[in-house]
Amino acid sequence: MKAKALVLEKKRELSLREIELPDQLGPDDVRVRIHTVGICGSDVHYYTHGQIGPFVVREPMVLGHEASGVVTDVGRNVSHLQVGDRVCMEPGIPNPSSRAAKLGVYNVDPSVRFWATPPVHGCLTPEVIHPAAFTFALPDSVSFAEGAMIEPFAIGMQAVVKARMQPGDICVVTGAGPIGLMVALAALAGGASKVLVSDLVEEKLAIAARYKGITPVNIARESLREVLDKRCGQDWGADVVFEASGSPKVYDDVLACARPAGAVVLVGMPVEPVTFDIVSAQAKELRIETVFRYANVYDRAIDLIASGKVDLKPLITETFDFEHSIDAFERAASARPNDVKLQITLDT
Ligand code: ZN
Repeated sequence: MKAKALVLEKKRELSLREIELPDQLGPDDVRVRIHTVGICGSDVHYYTHGQIGPFVVREPMVLGHEASGVVTDVGRNVSHLQVGDRVCMEPGIPNPSSRAAKLGVYNVDPSVRFWATPPVHGCLTPEVIHPAAFTFALPDSVSFAEGAMIEPFAIGMQAVVKARMQPGDICVVTGAGPIGLMVALAALAGGASKVLVSDLVEEKLAIAARYKGITPVNIARESLREVLDKRCGQDWGADVVFEASGSPKVYDDVLACARPAGAVVLVGMPVEPVTFDIVSAQAKELRIETVFRYANVYDRAIDLIASGKVDLKPLITETFDFEHSIDAFERAASARPNDVKLQITLDT
């Protein structure tokens, strides 16, 4: 099937054009008319750099992986979704027979196919075919825009699950970008009593500070550990430190802020390998966890949004229509400090 799509032709070259896309509705698939797609840092990175780590754009690829839409057809084995259902999609499709899938950690299945990760096409096109097992109905109270935010929020959910948080935990999140904010909101929903969010950019911290429970810390001006001690009234540290900046300079702060026997959750992805002081981590017996995307958190993420306990709406900065997708990507690549999430809507 030929369809119009936002195509990354190669590094620094986008076009909105017709491209051949799969059209076979398998028995376990649904067909979805795409409504809203969020632009992710990874989409922008493929556009500006042509690769992320080992994933290199070698041929034209449709971008986009944060999507919501409406079911327009269902395969013959599909029973939990019907035509007309409003849905959002988990963009990573594992091999269901893989060892990783059987262990419940399908996000680290080496054969996972993830939208807009070369060579797999993404979802910035009016219609997609997707496995029903990775397609989730949205309650009426969750908008399409929020539905397209479930994907980044799922990373925050995964980070909190990996942290094994307890009620009342004091948390630090380093990095106030979109993922840092998602982690902070998931930590609050997960029972954190206080969340300190650090960054160097005042505009980003101001957005974080709009949420009750979040304390912004500008590390250009103040020491994160000192603020933490003052806020917690003790020289002990945070129960959980989430690293969400990807900055190579942040690890001293991360280790310094974790309490003895606390947890460090590495979410941010540094572009280059980094070194950090293992003995500092050992001296506190820190538990270090890593996060790669997410597994088995989508339905909980949707329920949290529907319950009103997590409000992602303030993080949607601007919405572009499909015809202006390239403008939306240029805007995202310009990285305005006030922009959190830019979305593209195909339903006009
Ligand atoms: Zn994303």
